[in-house]
Amino acid sequence: MKYAAKALTNISILKLLKKHGAGVDVVSIQEAQIAIGAGFAPDEIMFTPNCVDFSEIVQGVDLGLNINLDNLSVLEKFGKKYGSSYPVCIRLNPHILAGGNYKISTGHGNSKFGISVYQLPQIMQLVSKHKIQVNGLHIHTGSEITETEIFLKMADILFGVARDFPALKFIDFGSGFKVAYKEGDHVTNIYDLGLKLGKAFKEFYHSYGKQLELWIEPGKYLVSEAGYLFVTATVVKTTPSVTFVGVNSGLNHLIRPMMYDAYHEIVNVSNPTGDQKIYTIVGNICETDTFGADRKINEVREGDLLVLKNAGAYGYSMASNYNSRFRPAEVLMLNGKVHLIRKRDTLDDILRNQISIDL
Ligand SMILES: *Cc1c(COP(=O)(O)O)cnc(C)c1O
Repeated sequence: MKYAAKALTNISILKLLKKHGAGVDVVSIQEAQIAIGAGFAPDEIMFTPNCVDFSEIVQGVDLGLNINLDNLSVLEKFGKKYGSSYPVCIRLNPHILAGGNYKISTGHGNSKFGISVYQLPQIMQLVSKHKIQVNGLHIHTGSEITETEIFLKMADILFGVARDFPALKFIDFGSGFKVAYKEGDHVTNIYDLGLKLGKAFKEFYHSYGKQLELWIEPGKYLVSEAGYLFVTATVVKTTPSVTFVGVNSGLNHLIRPMMYDAYHEIVNVSNPTGDQKIYTIVGNICETDTFGADRKINEVREGDLLVLKNAGAYGYSMASNYNSRFRPAEVLMLNGKVHLIRKRDTLDDILRNQISIDL
């Protein structure tokens, strides 16, 4: 299991996952460097870059990472430079939408990620020309997939391709595991998936003729529900049509509601038994930054502490200093103990790389 570091990249979180036996999936050389700093051995790190300069991939090789390529032109450069001397994994785009599957987000076939399975002949040509040693096949759709059947369908496509690559060591099924953002949400049934995918995988490698490793790369599944964003209600603002609660946070701290229309449950921690009212919770950024519209929440008074749930994945890691505001502190609660694992920003952090020239 490779934890997808981009979901929450704090070095203490990486150390915790390492302690529990995880490897790590990184998408930039910086994430790789942080992971190495957290104690991961290079061969426990999967590097899946996208549209990066080739020099970054060379850096990955120099560090000894597992390299995952998703572009024919990069595969060619890699083959020319390394030939058979450094093994490589290939990221495929299965175009599962071609079958008209309604459960996966549209635009999938037009995704920038992965090498199309329809380009397999070009892959094979490069592999044989440069004697590239393909040690893994990878797929990651990025979608929130709840149906085991869809994973199995993707697995089937990978198994079909895998027969053309005799030197595989692993197949990496990526992620796409969905968690609950609100009560009643459909989630990926990991146990059911584990059983069925495990069985299909075994059947596959028996016919392949060699035992392979099955890798997965969950991010959200591991950290989303573990994270809470605490905010203070700074103002309650009533207009003729809406009652707003303004909080001391915004899309600079949690961009998912604005970027993905994501739903994050919001609870008034300070008034858990107050009468419920309808509020629209907004941030303090000069931008439309609605955390939740028309939410039924226990009465909010100015100064109340609210919590936004599911803030562990793609919360802090997508945070910014927009409006020159500080990013928050990060606190880890572990076995009943509280640890500060990141300090809140200060003005020095915002000014650090700015150069004030003489005018
Ligand atoms: C982001 C990412 C993941 C993790 O996705 P989640 O939806 O957070 O589980 C896994 N693999 C790769 C290559 C990724 O880019």
